[in-house]
Amino acid sequence: MTDTSPTTAELAAAVPGLAPYLRPATLLHPYAAAPEPHASRIGGPALWPEGEAWPHCTAGHLADEYRDVPAADRAIWERIDRAVAERARTTGGAHVLTEEEAAEQHRIMAGAGYLDLVHWRTHRTVPERPAAAVALVPLLHLRAEDAPQLPWPADADRLQVLWCPNDHDDLQGRRYYHGPNVELHWQRAADLVPAAPPTPRRSEENYLPTPCAVRPEQVRDLPDQDELPDELRDAAEEFASRYDLEYHRALSCAEGWKLGGWPSWHSTDLIPVDCGCGARMVHLLTVDSGGAPEVSVGRHGELHVFVCPADLAHPVGLDLQ
Ligand SMILES: [Zn+2]
Ligand SMILES: [Zn+2]
Repeated sequence: MTDTSPTTAELAAAVPGLAPYLRPATLLHPYAAAPEPHASRIGGPALWPEGEAWPHCTAGHLADEYRDVPAADRAIWERIDRAVAERARTTGGAHVLTEEEAAEQHRIMAGAGYLDLVHWRTHRTVPERPAAAVALVPLLHLRAEDAPQLPWPADADRLQVLWCPNDHDDLQGRRYYHGPNVELHWQRAADLVPAAPPTPRRSEENYLPTPCAVRPEQVRDLPDQDELPDELRDAAEEFASRYDLEYHRALSCAEGWKLGGWPSWHSTDLIPVDCGCGARMVHLLTVDSGGAPEVSVGRHGELHVFVCPADLAHPVGLDLQ
């Protein structure tokens, strides 16, 4: 073990097969400060092309639904609770449901996620009917010079990432996703003027970023071991072990708010993200939980936004880790 950790470039020099996998990435390093409107930043004041309507999300939103538990079912539930407590007391054992009791509770819950024992009502989330549009909120404002490796359209020098600060589960068809709806807008600074978007009709607190300034750092990123052929993965892990490091994270998939580079697949293993057009999508942005922006995605994890290399106008791919 040495005092200085190796860099991804040193690893790629030692294991030449990795060189083609090195990708430029920008780590944003957000910090709490009122950001300049035209600087790269997280959240903060809205800028929008003059005369263009502020975007709204019309995807399906989930609404809370509460159902009162009928008095007869409440009596059954209370009887089960007493029986369980009585058995635990007489045997000195744990509180355990019999199969019949569990079946009764299952029937009373009827698919609900939660039973409120104070008001005796069940809670579940259901698609909102009728669906109504929700104003998006600014998530990220990015200047091209801070992340030049992104696939900037020829006439764009700003990327604005907006999202709908609510959970959705109908955005990606069969590919499972439960989180905010994300839109990318590739724009020109010269077109942007201060805007006053409507407040979203509904929002989850953890999806409303605290405005932050950023300190962009350009790095070279290597992929999660799942993206490597076995032989390269073994060589990368062997190299990392010489420094008492894990290849994952210490030498790959740099953590934090990131543009370009590679996503980490630490919670699901690799699930390739393919566009509807058939192209394998590429990682554009990682939204991280915690820290100064005080955003929380997934189980306080990471949201990865992917773009189609064939056409930036194709819908983004979204993945939570
Ligand atoms: Zn939405
Ligand atoms: Zn595509």
